[in-house]
Amino acid sequence: MTGTFHTHSEDDTRALAAELAATLTAGAVLLLSGDLGAGKTAFVRGLAEGLGIDTREVTSPTFTLVHEYRGGRLPLIHVDLYRLNSADLDEIGLDPDVAAEGVVAVEWPERLVRDVRGAIAIRIEDGGEDERRLTIDAAPVSDYSMR
Ligand code: ADP
Ligand code: MG
Repeated sequence: MTGTFHTHSEDDTRALAAELAATLTAGAVLLLSGDLGAGKTAFVRGLAEGLGIDTREVTSPTFTLVHEYRGGRLPLIHVDLYRLNSADLDEIGLDPDVAAEGVVAVEWPERLVRDVRGAIAIRIEDGGEDERRLTIDAAPVSDYSMR
């Protein structure tokens, strides 16, 4: 599921994410970029919904960088790198075995020091009020390396 999508509410964004979630298999990595308030966490909530996970637990991780949600078709691992200047997925407490069997969704992937090969890049742009433009791109993203 790639391309550009327009959503007009948080619910829309969640529904789009849920649709994408249905297509994901174990080991998928999603890189969610966009400004503060763009809707990255809302998108992650939609992913959880689509995977059949109770979405009430999905919030912006405050002190923990990595949150794991189970109980769905696949485990969802939610990573928020906002508070870091640079990060390496291997060094922030992301268990590679858990990552391999679940879906990893990363907010602020710009902080990553290395590419994640095969990742799905999702860019959310604020179009004013409740309008958002989401670009989903399954091609490898080289821009995330060496910031
Ligand atoms: P981020 O994680 O990118 O900082 P959040 O998901 O926490 O952003 O917050 C997004 C905010 O924008 C929420 O308050 C949500 O209700 C609001 N919002 C308004 N329209 C949309 C939309 N189309 N998609 C997603 N969120 C939206
Ligand atoms: Mg967030």
